[in-house]
Amino acid sequence: MIEKDGIECGCGRRGCFEKYASITALLKMTSTENLKEAFYLIEKNSNIQNVFEKYLENLSEGLANIINIFDPEMLVIGGGLSEYEDIFLYKLKSKVVSKIYNKYTYDFNLKVATLKNDAGIIGASMLGKYLS
Ligand SMILES: [Zn+2]
Repeated sequence: MIEKDGIECGCGRRGCFEKYASITALLKMTSTENLKEAFYLIEKNSNIQNVFEKYLENLSEGLANIINIFDPEMLVIGGGLSEYEDIFLYKLKSKVVSKIYNKYTYDFNLKVATLKNDAGIIGASMLGKYLS
């Protein structure tokens, strides 16, 4: 949860991470139709840049929650956002680091999936091979 009593979510609760840090949330916050348009505006429009900073703040809250609870060795971001690594990853890392409790985790790995937006579909297609 990112915001108690926040935006209503499809799961029936309010304020869920999904409603603040998903691609759907980013498109809604930037009033854009797709990520290409959103990131075009993020680079060109200072108002949209401020909106994107808020989005990254939301995303970093959720990721920091995961790190603070599970202390993972690595987090990998896939999906559409991963196509824009150069624009968001450094800023996101700096926001996450400021929120984590265990400073030994300071140098944790937050990376973008090598296969970027195709990681999910390729992983799903390979699942049968590894289950057999
Ligand atoms: Zn929910």
